[in-house]
Amino acid sequence: MSDFIPAAKPIIGDEEREAVDRVLRSGMIAQGPEVAAFEREFAEHFVGGRESVAVNSGTSGQHLGLLAAGVGPGDEVIVPSFTFAATGNSVALTGATPVFVDIEPNYFTLDPEAVRAAITPRTKGIMPVHLYGHPFLVDQIEAIANEHGLAIYEDAAQAHGASWKGRRAGTFGDFAMFSLYPTKNMTSGEGGMVSCATAEIARNMRLLRNQGMEKQYENEVIGFNTRMTDIHAAIGRVQLTKVDAWTAQRQRNAAALNAGLGELAGVQIPLVADEAVHVYHQYTVRLDAGERDRIHVALREEHNIGSGVYYPIPNHRLLPLAKFAPGLDLPETERAAREVLSLPVHPSLGEGDIERIVAAVAATLRAGA
Ligand SMILES: *Cc1c(COP(=O)(O)O)cnc(C)c1O
Repeated sequence: MSDFIPAAKPIIGDEEREAVDRVLRSGMIAQGPEVAAFEREFAEHFVGGRESVAVNSGTSGQHLGLLAAGVGPGDEVIVPSFTFAATGNSVALTGATPVFVDIEPNYFTLDPEAVRAAITPRTKGIMPVHLYGHPFLVDQIEAIANEHGLAIYEDAAQAHGASWKGRRAGTFGDFAMFSLYPTKNMTSGEGGMVSCATAEIARNMRLLRNQGMEKQYENEVIGFNTRMTDIHAAIGRVQLTKVDAWTAQRQRNAAALNAGLGELAGVQIPLVADEAVHVYHQYTVRLDAGERDRIHVALREEHNIGSGVYYPIPNHRLLPLAKFAPGLDLPETERAAREVLSLPVHPSLGEGDIERIVAAVAATLRAGA
């Protein structure tokens, strides 16, 4: 059988190894100058210099970002259900209520009309997700937020470098969380980066990640230890120098997959809004529900190709989050959970790999016809 093509593949080179070694040899490995430099470089690279705060995971960043923006018990935050559990969890962890709403069918992002319908006097903000690396419907969501005086908190975990009408993901909300988990478009091992709209939110973030202290032993609030280490920051700094080339390769891979899969009956290739630059954290097709599971299994078992279902169970039906959504029915979310399949698009793929993926999907479709 041909070599396995994984669904995702982090790329770690000699430069990352040397950077880690440099930090290890320095003897100073906890949060220090590497983290400070990474924050500045990340901010310049992705969010036009907007102050950014590094933490130990995207989830921590999302949780602390909400706290830093003043979200707490009694508040409601409108979130999509069709996302990773961290989105709903981070709201619930603040003591606020995640209000799950449906997605629009084209880009799998928050449905503006559903958002509008979910607003109550307790709504504090909206947390849209730039799912798969495609921006949410920025104009419409911003218009609703402005009209109702609501904050936007961005889940940009998958959207490093994405943009909407030339405006960059990570600059739309009071804060925006980027994940640096290994399978994301760039990594620090584990980690998160939070770009902040105001100096106050950034300062709150810095307090919360470090036991509530700005000055050692002068605690101002009750805080966490969610610091990033210099070891992780050193990896992230190197990855920053490579991520644009990787994104361009993801986009070329997506174009090649589109060319191969676009003509196949039964496959809906990823749509991209005219206003959007998509960074293809995932390359996600829609298939008929029964076909999706069959192709997912056949790719692995017959063709040695990994693929992924993101996400098979929407947030509002996950055991710990379902209590926030009694009796809720989100038809587009449920349909997406049955129909989506993410095929490999990562930058290590060669032309031959793309041809294999296209041929495997085509053969499996034919075999089931
Ligand atoms: C990865 C991810 C997160 C969480 O990031 P971690 O770094 O894994 O904690 C949150 N939301 C979405 C949509 C993600 O994909």
